[in-house]
Amino acid sequence: MAETVRLYEVVLRDGLQNEDAILPARAKIDIAHRLVQAGFKDIEVTSFVRPRWIPQLADAAEVVRGLPDAPDVRFWALVPNQVGLDRALEAGIGHVATFLSASETHNQKNVNRTVRESLEGLRRVVQTAKGEGLTVRSYISTVFGCEYEGPVPVERSLELATQLLDAGADEVALGDTTGMAHPAQVIDVLSRYVDAGIPLSRISLHFHDTRGTALANVWAAWTFGARSFDGSVSGVGGCPYAPGAAGNACTQDMLYMFDQMGVRTGVDLEAACEAGDQLEALLGRPLPGRYHRYWQGARQRARARTA
Ligand code: ZN
Repeated sequence: MAETVRLYEVVLRDGLQNEDAILPARAKIDIAHRLVQAGFKDIEVTSFVRPRWIPQLADAAEVVRGLPDAPDVRFWALVPNQVGLDRALEAGIGHVATFLSASETHNQKNVNRTVRESLEGLRRVVQTAKGEGLTVRSYISTVFGCEYEGPVPVERSLELATQLLDAGADEVALGDTTGMAHPAQVIDVLSRYVDAGIPLSRISLHFHDTRGTALANVWAAWTFGARSFDGSVSGVGGCPYAPGAAGNACTQDMLYMFDQMGVRTGVDLEAACEAGDQLEALLGRPLPGRYHRYWQGARQRARARTA
């Protein structure tokens, strides 16, 4: 039987929160419908952080209300704290994601708390969410390096992952928030996690392509045995520290690679490209994903031939 990989789609949350343009809820809901039709089974649709913090995602409840009726799809929302969790519960989402950073400086700048304070708060959020019957993922940012502090020792993220999983989180997503990871490091970090008793089945890898290493990192993690990866259609998203830089790992880049390797993704590459095309029109800027750019060029040539 063919091997399978799980692609967790973050374009509507991580992607859009790092774009300047603010899309109307209707457009986000349309994209969510397209993603479901394309075959995605894990879609992070929004964030219940304070609207003032991230105006791009201020319409969280409205987006959740407009999601398609798709019982086999897990729709996820980011929650920063208990207040965010309450809003998420009220909106009726079944899957939530918490976040904190492995780097003290990054965490302070992001949520104005120490890592320890964040961890204490989030352990309770995780427990409450599990008590309410939700599925919980916990993001850990800057696992592979921090713009402010440089290298981040593996022990730091490992300790956080252990505690969050102990509190009841179903999975941790190891974030390369600013795209500093390289393939050898990815394998090293994963080895340390596995040695510490955290199974790969509870880890997702969240890469950014800021410096062009995202797909190489995915491949490295895959060869090590990881089977869950976060991606953003057409590489939507940027880097808050580097205007104009590439964003999340491009979903179509991963789809193409896995398709060619005979690994089942469950997602239709062409349909993902169509969704990316629509997003590019909505965002009004050329999107950076490599496969996205190839696909647009190929289509233009085909059109020129038939014209
Ligand atoms: Zn990210």
